[in-house]
Amino acid sequence: MKITLRGLSKRFGSAVAVDGLSLEVREGELVSLVGGSGCGKTTTLRMIAGFEAPDAGEIWFDDRLIGGVPPRQRGLGIVFQSYALFPTMTVAENIAFGLRVARWPEVGIRERVGEMIELMKLGGLERRYANQLSGGQQQRVALARALARKPPALLLDEPLSALDAKIRLRLRGEIRKIQQDLGITTVYVTHDQEEALSIADRIAVMRDGRIEQIGAPEQIYAAPRTDFVADFIGISNLLPCRVVSAAQGAVEWEGERLRARLPGRTDGERVMLSVRPEKLHLLAGGASGSEANRLEGVVEVITFLGPVVRVEVTVHGRPLWVDIPHAGARALERRKPVTLAFAADDAVILAPSDPGRDAIAR
Ligand code: ATP
Repeated sequence: MKITLRGLSKRFGSAVAVDGLSLEVREGELVSLVGGSGCGKTTTLRMIAGFEAPDAGEIWFDDRLIGGVPPRQRGLGIVFQSYALFPTMTVAENIAFGLRVARWPEVGIRERVGEMIELMKLGGLERRYANQLSGGQQQRVALARALARKPPALLLDEPLSALDAKIRLRLRGEIRKIQQDLGITTVYVTHDQEEALSIADRIAVMRDGRIEQIGAPEQIYAAPRTDFVADFIGISNLLPCRVVSAAQGAVEWEGERLRARLPGRTDGERVMLSVRPEKLHLLAGGASGSEANRLEGVVEVITFLGPVVRVEVTVHGRPLWVDIPHAGARALERRKPVTLAFAADDAVILAPSDPGRDAIAR
């Protein structure tokens, strides 16, 4: 099922929670709504579910306008952060609940519960109660319950946030696999950008009740359109610059001349230059390197992150982050001068705001 939101708005008193939001979630697609606290993610999801009525705008399921249709009749599978299992029911009874309400025949219920137990790897736990399950198991039951009625779409609101890191990683992979196997249209709310990057077909980055940018994870990561998105998704070094010569691809930051691609920019314009930590290199003493851009700095902090080492280097009083392999970090020392280098092509030039954000996000 395709879900289309057009100009959706919702206020609570004087606070605008969602502000003219438009979005199309394609059949079988997983779109993640990601953004900081209070940006309107949950309110958007609650309007799709029917728990909150929009003040303005339309919600379409395929070519049906879903006006005042009550939540139950929308037929969606919903999982919230708190597992909200019925404590007086067993796992099997929890999964069967929606089917009973929908008056499925007893044989059909038994069969479907069996399928869900298998799909969510809950075998052996059928007779347990919620308080006899781990957090991860409870959330699997909540998913099984949401999927049991074969809903046309699934709404997930921070389904993993109450779980510890390892379980969260595992279950996130499982959710993605099941979502793809079933081909079920899914809206996934999270404040965790890494979770969004890893699970979604497309990410909608929200800010102040609107979508700031929408796109595939790799697109959002490699080509953020605004400094907000660059800063929110992954880690970015953001340098406020002035265009010296758009034709020659030259900008100036703190008196330093830097090279970047500047199509469509004008001389004198203020822009933000964004460069990811893995695109910055440290030049060992005397090494020349081929990158167009050079900055002199001082090593401030060296942090081992597992796969890479993140080095904080102060340049013109500002911290820049550089990710390097372990081998390159051995010779580094705090307070020692280093040279940073990056290629013109690895500098992403951003506008501070996105003029296209009123357009429908497809
Ligand atoms: P979080 O990640 O913190 O859950 P969110 O992006 O999901 O945030 P929402 O819960 O949608 O954000 O809230 C958006 C704004 O609307 C916030 O300012 C919030 O305080 C406000 N809000 C949400 N629900 C209500 C309500 N029932 N009554 C009053 N204000 C509300």
